Amino acid sequence: MIPLINLKQQFGTIKDELIDEMEKVLLSGQYILGSKVEELEEKIAEKLGVSHAVAVANGTDALILTLDAYGIGKGDEVITTPFTFFATGEAISRVGATPVFVDIDPITFTLCPLKIEEKITPKTKAIIPVHLFGQTAHMNEINQLAKKHNLLVIEDACQAFGAEYKGKAAGSLGDAACFSFFPTKNLGTVGDGGMITTSDPALAKRIRTLRIHGSVKKYFHNEIGYNSRLDELHAAILLTCLKHIDQWNQQRGTIAARYRASLKDLKHVHSPAVSSGSLHVYHLYCLETDYRKEITEYLRQKNVQTGIYYPCCLHLQEAFKGLGYQKGSLPIAEALTEKLFAIPMHPFLSVESQDKVIAAIRESEEILSC
Ligand SMILES: *Cc1c(COP(=O)(O)O)cnc(C)c1O
Repeated sequence: MIPLINLKQQFGTIKDELIDEMEKVLLSGQYILGSKVEELEEKIAEKLGVSHAVAVANGTDALILTLDAYGIGKGDEVITTPFTFFATGEAISRVGATPVFVDIDPITFTLCPLKIEEKITPKTKAIIPVHLFGQTAHMNEINQLAKKHNLLVIEDACQAFGAEYKGKAAGSLGDAACFSFFPTKNLGTVGDGGMITTSDPALAKRIRTLRIHGSVKKYFHNEIGYNSRLDELHAAILLTCLKHIDQWNQQRGTIAARYRASLKDLKHVHSPAVSSGSLHVYHLYCLETDYRKEITEYLRQKNVQTGIYYPCCLHLQEAFKGLGYQKGSLPIAEALTEKLFAIPMHPFLSVESQDKVIAAIRESEEILSC
């Protein structure tokens, strides 16, 4: 089976470097929020071109702590996309605010700027665009709307470490941005981790307090906070991966270009669109088709793994039933839950495996047309 992603191979290629770094942490006597975490925060802030980066326990917490630090909660509304991982909406509800889902654009599958304004009310406090599958959302249009209506923009950049929008890094495009270092993300560790990036010093300071029980001075607590910290071990692993991330993202780009060129003449299978000025980092490579069931079944027979991102929109999740959305209310996102499928994509996918994936997709289309 050619797997969607191969983490054993990814971490295996840098095993010696990782073990050296892990051993240093083991023998350092410092395990949580120490010098490695500080170094990671500095390196990431510098790389993304922001003044602050604050490490937390995971990407979901990054969203929750950011919303909380901005004082967003009960009675507030936050606009976001229904076509994302559950955590984006969950974080909004977790702080007591109401997620307001706005349909996506059918080309990039990210939040549609044309549909945002009609959902803005006096209760709206923020917009959370998601940089989906490794491609940034329409940030200029979203930032303009936010400015006009005095809203915050919080990027959900969990799938887009290294992505760029008009020459600027994902993570530097709004008021704040949230990253996840879950193992399968482009920059991931061998466990959980997360980060908030911002150029707002007050926000960074508040999150630094919130992540450690609302405490500035040990055993003195200014407010009710969280326990949401990054471990030194994960910071050391992430610092090691950070040295390779540009190359890994480039390798993803090369594979994507090959997929695109080899599949472009197909009638029933469409490669992902890339907006002009956007650097896509292909967290996932999702193809669009009206024949998903037939094609993925054929690929399974040919030992090519596929995945479905996402099989259910957020507004139709059981957990959000109370919000009162009906089937058909966000038609573009809903239609895509039936049409997209991911094919193998990771930096170490061999040319031979790529060829097998390409051949299997081409054959599946031939079978469809006869
Ligand atoms: C992975 C992900 C999250 C959550 O990150 P965790 O580290 O798993 O908590 C949030 N939003 C999006 C878009 C994600 O892909």
